[in-house]
Amino acid sequence: MNERTVVVRRIEEEIALDRDYVALPEDYGKDSYFQRPDIQTIRSLVFETLDILEEKTGFRRKMEESRQVVIKPNLVSVYHRSGMFEEDYPESTDPRVMDAVVEWVQKYNKKVLIAESSGKPMPTATSFRISGMDRIAGYRNTGLVTLETCPVRRYLLPKAKVMKEVLIPTPFVGVVEGKDFYISVPKLKTNLYTRVTLGFKNAMGVIPYALRERNHNYRIDEKLADMLYILRPDLTLIDGLVGGEGNTPAPVDPVDCRLLVAGTDPVATDRVGCRIMGFDPDEIPLFREVGKRGFYHGEAQVDGEVPVFHFRPADPSLLGDTFHKHFPNILVLAGHSLPQAPKIRDPYAVTPEIARELEGACRGGCLAALRSGFEYIVYSTKKNRDRQIAVIIGSGVPIDGKKWWFDRDGKPYEEEKVRNLEMPILTVGNCGEVLKDVASYRSPGCCSPSACMLAATAAMKVPFPLLSLKNHYFGIFGLDAVRMVLKRTALSLRGIWIDCPSRHVDQIYPVPKVSDKYKDRDFVPWPLPKMNWKMRKKMAGDQLRILKL
Ligand code: SF4
Repeated sequence: MNERTVVVRRIEEEIALDRDYVALPEDYGKDSYFQRPDIQTIRSLVFETLDILEEKTGFRRKMEESRQVVIKPNLVSVYHRSGMFEEDYPESTDPRVMDAVVEWVQKYNKKVLIAESSGKPMPTATSFRISGMDRIAGYRNTGLVTLETCPVRRYLLPKAKVMKEVLIPTPFVGVVEGKDFYISVPKLKTNLYTRVTLGFKNAMGVIPYALRERNHNYRIDEKLADMLYILRPDLTLIDGLVGGEGNTPAPVDPVDCRLLVAGTDPVATDRVGCRIMGFDPDEIPLFREVGKRGFYHGEAQVDGEVPVFHFRPADPSLLGDTFHKHFPNILVLAGHSLPQAPKIRDPYAVTPEIARELEGACRGGCLAALRSGFEYIVYSTKKNRDRQIAVIIGSGVPIDGKKWWFDRDGKPYEEEKVRNLEMPILTVGNCGEVLKDVASYRSPGCCSPSACMLAATAAMKVPFPLLSLKNHYFGIFGLDAVRMVLKRTALSLRGIWIDCPSRHVDQIYPVPKVSDKYKDRDFVPWPLPKMNWKMRKKMAGDQLRILKL
């Protein structure tokens, strides 16, 4: 037995997998579905992968003895007939894989809960309907829960570097307390914020909206590593049947990998997934960070071949050639004064490379969110890419009492010049506050990914595809969003915590000093205070604002 064994299994037969990889077909549950050759092959692949992993690691006993098995897919966005160029994009966990996983698990533990919270403002109920997870739950008799409408419990993470406080929705409390078995079923795909997104990053979809938003900034890798103190999957099964390359959370292009990766060590499993996509995990800041925290215990012993596909990396740059080719008339200016930004003394000595470094000083927040917003336009059927606007990133580089930003060639723009640009200006995040009086379009926070994405499409005068009538599920989306917000509002008014106050700072609650007794613990329960009426009203107001988009 070796707990760090990772199993990789691949479909060798010439069988087409590019049908129904986002949404289950209507005949799911009938013989016509289960007798399809691709469905039978996928089922065999899931069963073989998990059987071998059980043989190598013996994980099944814990699963059998657990109170229930919580399975979390990755449905941050489900792109099926969503008003973009292609009918499907491989962004979300393949429901055919999920169905087979549930079937396999139920041989040993009948009590299964499928739990997810999609990216705000996409209601998870809509993601369940589009993908067909609701039908899997009905057919297999499992629980199904939308985490964003659940009460939360608070925990303190004494060893965390940034995210000392975390809120966990009640369906995951049993996982935290070791009573439930947690299976993460992510997609094999690249990501704008963290370069790749696999099993342990999937936990970002567990925590509530406001906490998740504030995690998206230049410290995202540290915050994800912090989360490993409290949420470590017992089993990770990476869905790499049809991988996704490009700029998630925007649409990505399919890569026909035809494989699954499974392991009980979340970091070792994700590192194998990373190599399969053609990236060296040691080059990825997120993996370096989890290594520094002691969550990496050495390379996995891999059972199976590890093929290498060269996925197109996520490219968040707005100063780079690809973005410039897509949007030739957008003037992008970057100027950060964040601690990790390059220090500049002479504004006339900035090279294109330094400008890129400046831009990348905050990769995990507004930059990535903005790029996904523009990426929707690239994948949209309405291509309005010639509009001339200016996009300003960062609060400016302070040099000799003035603020400066730089274009893709390194050419400097002093604040006065930026203010007098004769084109609409888009500024993002709290960093962009400095120019808010001249901005025609802006997004608040640090960071609000949805606000950044919507600001990008608004500035280009292109409807956001998911919020347009071209989205086949637009009506359902709207109804589910209203229901979700009303539920969150009602719970808030009753004084039940479902989130933290919407504040984009790294510590929302004053964190108490941890006594010696607790300092070596991974987490400590930290009950939330009773909400007074003023707080109830504030929390309810935060929820209603979700509908403003
Ligand atoms: S507001 Fe500034 S620091 Fe915060 S995510 Fe946006 S660019 Fe980064």
